[in-house]
Amino acid sequence: LVRVENVNKSFGALHVLRDINLTVNRGEVVVVIGPSGGGKSTLCRAMNRLETIDSGTITFDGKPLPAEGKALARLRSDVGMVFQSFNLFAHKTILENVTLGPIKVRGVGREQAEKRGMELLERVGIASQARKYPAQLSGGQQQRTAIARALAMDPKMILFDEPTSALDPEMVQEVLDVMIGLARDGMTMVVVTHEMGFARRAANRVVFMSEGQIVEENTPDEFFTNAGTDRARDFLSKIL
Ligand code: ATP
Ligand code: MG
Repeated sequence: LVRVENVNKSFGALHVLRDINLTVNRGEVVVVIGPSGGGKSTLCRAMNRLETIDSGTITFDGKPLPAEGKALARLRSDVGMVFQSFNLFAHKTILENVTLGPIKVRGVGREQAEKRGMELLERVGIASQARKYPAQLSGGQQQRTAIARALAMDPKMILFDEPTSALDPEMVQEVLDVMIGLARDGMTMVVVTHEMGFARRAANRVVFMSEGQIVEENTPDEFFTNAGTDRARDFLSKIL
């Protein structure tokens, strides 16, 4: 579904993506882990063109990522994104947060968007909160709203950038459970996370990124029990 080939990206003198090659197949869950500053977020953002690249190519569904216009808007709705900070609209209700995209971008009628929105809120377990505002919800509930909002666009893939890092510990699992459900349902997902339980349960592949490079790509089992590189082993010894 996505093919990243020989991608390089610098911010000024800082070379943050160094010759990155990565393929994400349909229905696959790829977990990206690695030390802070390694380029994980930049890679995610490049995949839906929130960040431009300096060289190399990224294709989605066989076509190079569009630079602008309708095609770019289409890409952004095909590739959902869930961030560490939930980025909900504070002055809109939970249901409105979920229906806004379909209504504005996809031209879906309000009634139909609301029906689907309620189904999605049901799916992530917060239908009873639909008329509340984001600030009235817990962090875990807000993040589940953000996931429902991404799903409302019928994405072909969702990028998650440390979706549970800003949550209180007791709320992490409820969000991971929703993500595990999505993975089981066959959603294509790229997930930057340090939640190793999630990686073990849901990932098809673990990609270890450090200093702008993909240092190791492995199955979760192999990676956690028998990492092939010193850098990966060193990182794991610090977080496990
Ligand atoms: P973390 O685990 O802390 O989220 P990361 O692996 O996601 O780290 P990135 O956010 O991709 O890393 O950042 C890679 C490097 O690029 C860092 O040194 C960061 O400071 C730098 N960087 C990221 N975005 C920008 C930007 N817009 N302008 C300048 N430098 C940036
Ligand atoms: Mg990051």
